[in-house]
Amino acid sequence: MVGDTTHRATVAMPEARRIDTTPPVRISAADIPTQGHAWPSQMLRCAHCEAKVQAIDSTPKERTRPRRPYFRRTPRRGGGNRHAAECLYNVAERIRVIRAESDDSLRRDRSRNGRPRYRLVLPEAFGPAELIARGSRGEQVVAERLTTVLNTAAKIAALLEDYAERDADIDMEWSAECGGERVEWLNFLYVPQRIWVLHRRLEREGPALGHPTAVVFRATECESSTSSTGVSRSCAGTYALPPEPGSPEVERLAVVGEHELIERVFAQGTSRFYIGYGMWFRERGGPVGPTRLRLHIYSAAQVADISDEVGDRPLSRWRQWRRLRDLPGE
Ligand SMILES: [Zn+2]
Repeated sequence: MVGDTTHRATVAMPEARRIDTTPPVRISAADIPTQGHAWPSQMLRCAHCEAKVQAIDSTPKERTRPRRPYFRRTPRRGGGNRHAAECLYNVAERIRVIRAESDDSLRRDRSRNGRPRYRLVLPEAFGPAELIARGSRGEQVVAERLTTVLNTAAKIAALLEDYAERDADIDMEWSAECGGERVEWLNFLYVPQRIWVLHRRLEREGPALGHPTAVVFRATECESSTSSTGVSRSCAGTYALPPEPGSPEVERLAVVGEHELIERVFAQGTSRFYIGYGMWFRERGGPVGPTRLRLHIYSAAQVADISDEVGDRPLSRWRQWRRLRDLPGE
């Protein structure tokens, strides 16, 4: 039913334009139940391009989960009526770009209900239990591959964040595949404002999970320490916890490893975002706080700095990381 080349995702948009007025006025999906009947249906356009849209006053019956009213692009048999290439709501184009840069690690699956499904495939060598043999050419290949995967993961996260920030929903499914096992996107990648969810999971299921996870965080400080096993170094950051009486507002996390390795992967310095991949675990006690998340890394491929086109935007997008409303379920 769904061709390989056709991307059928729809975006539930919170805003639109009426073109029967001079000048055109913006309308909000929140007004659909009370005012929608008065809007001429042929005269509604995307807020950012000329695509025709329709108002959907959705009822709980339409989906398993109740959904607020929204606008959607009017489907046209045989294509057409697409969002403009540069339109904010042109999700097909944005995903095309992410896929093209993913080195084939972002796969699209067929699904029976027509909803697009995307799967981010992680290199086999990075299964949960495996430590990476250092110094071989094989490691180099996996390292390059994983860095691409992490950058792809960060771009997907930025895309989803971007739409969530506008209160727009993308009607599609994302997942990651770790060592042949499917992991739901929200259980695989944690953006700064959702790190507390990982913290909770590790409290409940911990001290470690059955699969690796990727965490986007802002590095704030690096320090070295000497022990009987040699000199190690760590780069730390903080993340917000949901406001609760009597508990701290922020918690710390740290990426730990051999001195030279940490120097290398955090070469871009602090005050910027990185993504750390591997078996994150929860550590009780310690010099800094009661609980902290930790990741021991063994390969440079486990950390990527978010430095390309996603780089500038997360700084503003993820700045308000205490924004805890509308979080998807744990
Ligand atoms: Zn548009």
